[in-house]
Amino acid sequence: MTTADKDTPKHESDARHFDPDALREKYREERDRRLRADGNEQYVEVEGQFAHYLDDPYVEPGFERAPLTDEVEVMIIGGGFGGLLAGARLRQAGVEDIRIVDPAGDFGGTWYWNRYPGIACDIESYVYLPLLEEIGYIPKEKYSFGQEILAHSQAIARKFDLYRDTCFQTRVEHIQWDEDEARWIVSTNRGDRMKAHYLCLATGPLNRPKLPGIPGLDAFEGHSFHASRWDYEYTGGDSSGGLTGLQGKRVGVIGTGATAVQIVPHIGASAEHLYVFQRTPSSIDVKNNPPTDPEWAKSLKPGWHQHRMDNFNSLVSGVPQTEDLVNDGWTDIITSLILSLEQEATADLTPEDIDRAVEIADFEKMESIRARVASIVAAPETAEALKPYYRQFCKRPCFHNEYLDTFNRENVTLVDTQGKGVERITKTGVVVDGRAYELDCLIFATGFEVGTDYSRRAGFQLEGRRGRSLTDTWSEGVRTLHGMHVHGFPNCFLMNMAQAGFTASFPHILNEQAKHLAYVIKKSIDDDLEAVEVSPEAEAAWIARCIEKAGANADFFENCTPGYYNNEGNTAPGAQKGFLSGQNGFYGGGSGSVEFIGLLEAWRAEGSMPGMEVRPRSDASARKKAARAR
Ligand code: NDP
Repeated sequence: MTTADKDTPKHESDARHFDPDALREKYREERDRRLRADGNEQYVEVEGQFAHYLDDPYVEPGFERAPLTDEVEVMIIGGGFGGLLAGARLRQAGVEDIRIVDPAGDFGGTWYWNRYPGIACDIESYVYLPLLEEIGYIPKEKYSFGQEILAHSQAIARKFDLYRDTCFQTRVEHIQWDEDEARWIVSTNRGDRMKAHYLCLATGPLNRPKLPGIPGLDAFEGHSFHASRWDYEYTGGDSSGGLTGLQGKRVGVIGTGATAVQIVPHIGASAEHLYVFQRTPSSIDVKNNPPTDPEWAKSLKPGWHQHRMDNFNSLVSGVPQTEDLVNDGWTDIITSLILSLEQEATADLTPEDIDRAVEIADFEKMESIRARVASIVAAPETAEALKPYYRQFCKRPCFHNEYLDTFNRENVTLVDTQGKGVERITKTGVVVDGRAYELDCLIFATGFEVGTDYSRRAGFQLEGRRGRSLTDTWSEGVRTLHGMHVHGFPNCFLMNMAQAGFTASFPHILNEQAKHLAYVIKKSIDDDLEAVEVSPEAEAAWIARCIEKAGANADFFENCTPGYYNNEGNTAPGAQKGFLSGQNGFYGGGSGSVEFIGLLEAWRAEGSMPGMEVRPRSDASARKKAARAR
């Protein structure tokens, strides 16, 4: 053994095909050149002259209905998986009087709005799609396409009779707590002034499209739209592709995140020329998508779905399992890490050794991602530009088999902006590094607001007791118990990411939140409560715990290239608005969501709703309730 070997931690000496120090330095350089002082402020709200980017292309214009002024037991804002799961779990608990409100024309949320060509989910369908056993449905393939997920959303609504009493094409404008009546008053753009005893906010974490603040953004005179409202009238085709309207057209796509990765191959196949404007490359792993084996489907035993979801969630949360049921690009990094740590079992590893081993496993993974780029993309300069230099979970990993190959087409050009972003937009196209690219159509695949105020993203202000708004209550950072209950906001349940567990399969956590809120609401109804509200002490204790837990991830996110995961790189203490960082972050640390879900289960099992202040129903409101029942 050489002196160098002796000084090198064991895991690093195993990894001779790359130099960890050089990679660390490269990652730092790539991060630094993307850091910008304006952080989240670099993005532009979709409003004013861009407001039409939010129009609903899937409904007939002219919908009208009479305003509603009635009362329901539970009002759910949002008809995506959050609202559907809340509705389903409430119905299972025996709560009948439910109304769901959504601006869309049907259920589906994200999967209603996003119908761009190639739309699919790269989390395994047998894990991602909720309530499979309840619906009696087995997805057609390992990874579902968007149409199947939208159809499944609607199947959930039918199964649990959630279409009944739903208000579609209705945008909530304001919600206010009426202390005297102990009711939420929900006002909408349809003139409604509805009352609800309980309120569930399931507005989604990535629901509000955002635009890049590029100089000249409003100058472009060609056709343009945001990918989340695909304009098939212009492009032709459908979500399976065949974009015949793009023949003879020069098309630009700004953005190379998970959305762009799915649309680029379809545009490349149809447009006269496609320019992809890249700021940061995504990591693109393999996606093997076999059809579902009917024999496997037949072999599934009751309880299989929760078991598979838990297995996946544990693995992506770093909790060792005896088997890897999903066995794909999401789970292989942790599986190989566990294996390598098992080989070291006798070595008495310190936490630093484990961190180092995790980092080396990450380097290995990303080296294979970069090698894949080189093996597919023919032009060396383009291949180099498409290689991501950051740790795998700094940005959302992507999985696609045609994206990289699209850059081998003669009619497709990658315009790499060297981490700086597009320089300027003009009347006729896009400028990068002084060079103009003339375009007929410009598509923004630039993502969704994350670090902005909750109320702005939800589209309405929530006013709790004494008229205090949620925005004011959270002005110094998110305040909750379990990410769900906020002091000053009785009978209100947030299905939020902040201060709740994070998992790669978002519906998993929504399902757990739905079970939890259904329990609290049902118990409150059974106990004849007027109001249930978290105490200031319980809320403060939870915040302290979340901040302590977030500390464990702080280093990781600080070293990441900027993006919505780390508040666009602004991770300094006091920068509260990040998605996954600080007080506004998810319930972090070690096994994050696994621990979080365990805490919720234990809380329910305790039976007395610890940390909640409850107010029994007054005689007057009991009389009102009885009168309503008559
Ligand atoms: P993202 O926020 O992930 O990507 C936005 C893209 O726009 C990034 O590539 C970003 O670059 C780029 N961008 C922003 N500003 C500029 C600029 N000024 N110049 C050039 N480029 C710019 O949005 P997506 O819609 O792609 O994805 C959002 C989320 O939706 C995903 O993270 C994922 O959670 C989810 N999703 C999931 C899918 C699934 O399979 N389950 C499929 C699609 C989306 P930079 O990286 O440098 O910021």
